[in-house]
Amino acid sequence: MARMPATLSITAMVPCFNEEECIEQAYLRIKEEVYRYGDAEILFVDDGSTDGTLGIIKRIAREDPRVSFISFARNFGLESAFTAGFSYASKEWTVQLDADLQSPPEELHKLVRRAVEDDHDAVFAVRTGRQDPWYRRLGTVGHQAIATRVLGIELPVHASVFRVVRTSVARKVAECKVSTPYFIATLPLIGARYTTVETAHSPRAAGRPKWSLGKLFRHAADLFVGFSYRPLALIYLAALGAAAAATALAAAGSGVQPLALASVLLHAAGLGALALLARYMVRIMRGSAGLPRYQIREANVPVRPQDDLYAYRNESTGRAAPAPLLQTGNLP
Ligand code: UDP
Ligand code: MG
Repeated sequence: MARMPATLSITAMVPCFNEEECIEQAYLRIKEEVYRYGDAEILFVDDGSTDGTLGIIKRIAREDPRVSFISFARNFGLESAFTAGFSYASKEWTVQLDADLQSPPEELHKLVRRAVEDDHDAVFAVRTGRQDPWYRRLGTVGHQAIATRVLGIELPVHASVFRVVRTSVARKVAECKVSTPYFIATLPLIGARYTTVETAHSPRAAGRPKWSLGKLFRHAADLFVGFSYRPLALIYLAALGAAAAATALAAAGSGVQPLALASVLLHAAGLGALALLARYMVRIMRGSAGLPRYQIREANVPVRPQDDLYAYRNESTGRAAPAPLLQTGNLP
């Protein structure tokens, strides 16, 4: 068991999307905890907010040199926001916190201590007394049970996005060219050592949740088809079952109606298989389209050209137009 050092190099990364009611409070509470570690920074990832969030972040960053930010050109979603956060965090460890303070900053020491003392690459918070509506809690349980039990996907069970991760390992995950980015399913695949720790959970400090049910379903579907081929096997089984039922009904000689029913069943299985195949194809196409996972419009840290929406601006004139690729004199 390693001892906790007196100072620790740590980034508190906070993805935020339209959190103007919470962001100032979040900054004050997070700073209180994280600056104790000595070598600390706070990194806000503004996921394309359309309210006053970015303005508040920029003011905080002007007043506090330990605050950095990157701001996306549009809302790319939480998975992209924290992926960017892991790439732009500059300290040895990165802890991810919510802007709405549902993950209490005061609990962060439990995660950090466990990671450092037991030499884990990632420690995830498991929320005790989760302060979310029943359908969200039920959704998480169902989604995790399908992923782990039915589809055999390895995940840190009941893990929330409140977590501390060794930044170098998180960056490895961020760089994986998976066609469906899904951090908690990719981390075990690269061999990272992880565990979970129980922490308290709070209701939202202010504002409204930013996940719609549609987004949550799409995210769950990404996990199911992005990290398992078992859904295809299940469809084959369903098709076989329907074929067996049809044969049995026909052999029983019970007339036209059961046969019609069996044929409907077979068609349903076939259509289901088609829909599922389409989902896998969308996943492959998305991956091969080479679209960036995010683009940064503004930041107070250096940005890699591939992440910078304005990478091709003409630096000497400051104008957004790129320098011409071809000199007209070279043309025939
Ligand atoms: N968030 C984000 N981009 C999004 C949705 C959410 O950066 O598209 C941020 C949000 O501002 C918050 C965190 O992710 O800091 C968790 O979001 P939320 O509180 O809405 O989710 P919930 O707690 O309901 O799961
Ligand atoms: Mg929340």
